Amino acid sequence: MNIASKLPAVGTNIFTVMSTLAAEHKAVNLGQGFPDFPMNEELTGLVAAAMKNGFNQYAPMPGWPALREAIAEKIHFLYGSNVSPDTEITITPGGTYAIYSALTAILNPGDEVILFEPCYDSYIPNIEINGAKAVPINLVYPEYKIDWKAVRAAVNEKTRCIMINTPHNPTGSVIGPEDIAELRSIVKDTNIFILSDEVYEHLIFDGITHQSILRYPDLLERSFVCFSFGKVYNCTGWKLGYCVAPAPLMKEFRKVHQFNCFSCFTPAQVALAEFLKHRDAYLGLSGFMQEKRDYFTKLMSRTRFTLQPSYGSYFICGTYERISDEPDKELAIRLTKEAGIATIPVSSFYHNGKDDKVLRFCFSKKNETLEAAVEKLMKC
Ligand code: PMP
Ligand code: GLN
Repeated sequence: MNIASKLPAVGTNIFTVMSTLAAEHKAVNLGQGFPDFPMNEELTGLVAAAMKNGFNQYAPMPGWPALREAIAEKIHFLYGSNVSPDTEITITPGGTYAIYSALTAILNPGDEVILFEPCYDSYIPNIEINGAKAVPINLVYPEYKIDWKAVRAAVNEKTRCIMINTPHNPTGSVIGPEDIAELRSIVKDTNIFILSDEVYEHLIFDGITHQSILRYPDLLERSFVCFSFGKVYNCTGWKLGYCVAPAPLMKEFRKVHQFNCFSCFTPAQVALAEFLKHRDAYLGLSGFMQEKRDYFTKLMSRTRFTLQPSYGSYFICGTYERISDEPDKELAIRLTKEAGIATIPVSSFYHNGKDDKVLRFCFSKKNETLEAAVEKLMKC
C-alpha cells in the first residue's frame, strides 16, 4: 500500500529518541520533562476511591461536571474571570490534545498561524495536518523574548491564530504585561485567534505574576487557553488537561473533541474535582520547583556549562562553549552514550534545526537524581 504522508517531514520526536537512548544506556534522564518523585498520595487515594465507588463509566462529553465547576472556581480565584463550567471548559486527555483540538477547530487550508521558536514540538505538525501554514518567528536569543516588530510584519489577511506559551518550554522564559499589551494591539479589530499554552501556569518563579490570558477578558474573547493536570500534580502519565474558551469557540472545539476522544478517564476526574479544593497543593508548586531550580543551578556551577536564566516551567537551558563546539544534537547523543546523562538539544524545537548550541535540562527530579546528573556533567 502506498500512503501519501500527511506529515512527510515528521519523524520520531526528540522526547522518544532521548528517553529511549537514556534507557538503553542506563543514563540519568534530565531530557523528557517529567518528575521522578512520587505524586500526592491523597490524590491517588481519591482515584482509587472513585473506582471503588463505581465511577467507572463514561463521563459526560465535556468532562465531569464537578471538575469543571472546581476549575471555574479556581480560575475566578486566581485570575478574576467568570468562566462558565457548562459552556466554556472542556476536560481533555492532556494539554497536547487540547492544543490539537483547538487548532483543528479553527484552521482551514491556507490559514497561517504565527508561533515562536523554539517551541513545543507538537505545534507545527498540529498546524500542518490541518492544511494550514506555520509561520515561525524566532524568540530573540539569548533572552528568548518575543520580537513584536517581526510579529507585526508577519500578520496578514491569512493570519488565523497567534500561539503563545508562558512559562515557556524549552527556555523557561515568561511573558510580561508589556507582551500582553503588544499582543492586544496586534489582534485588536482583527479576526485573529489566540492559542495560549499555559500548562506551566503554576511553575513560575521569583515572585513573577503569571500573565494568563484568563486575566484579560478582551483577549479571552478570542482565545483557547490550554492546561495540563500532569504538570500541576506531577502525574504526566495521566494525560489529563483542559481547555478554556468562550462559548462560541468552545462549541466548535467540542465538535472536534466529541468525535475524537469523546470523554476522559472518569475516576481521575472525580478525584481531581475534590482535590482541586486544596489550594495549597497548586499554590505551593512554584516554591517547591523554584527550590529545585536553585539547587540544580548551584550544583551546575561546578560544571563547565553556562546556564541561562529560567523564570518558569521545569526546564533550564545551558550553553557549552567551554566544553565543545559540536552541534547540540551530536553532543546530547554523545553525552547520553558516553557520560550517561540525557538532555534535550534545543535545536529540535526549531523547524529548521537552528542550533545555538544549547541543551535543555529538566530539573523536576529528586535531589539525588540532580546530584547524580551533575556528577556526570562535571566530567564533561
Ligand atoms: N505544552 C507544553 C509546552 C508542554 O511542555 C507540554 C508537556 N508535554 C504540553 C503542552 C502538554 O502536556 P500533556 O499533553 O502531557 O498534558
Ligand atoms: N512536555 C514534555 C517535554 O517537553 C514531554 C512531552 C512529550 O513527551 N511529548 O519534555
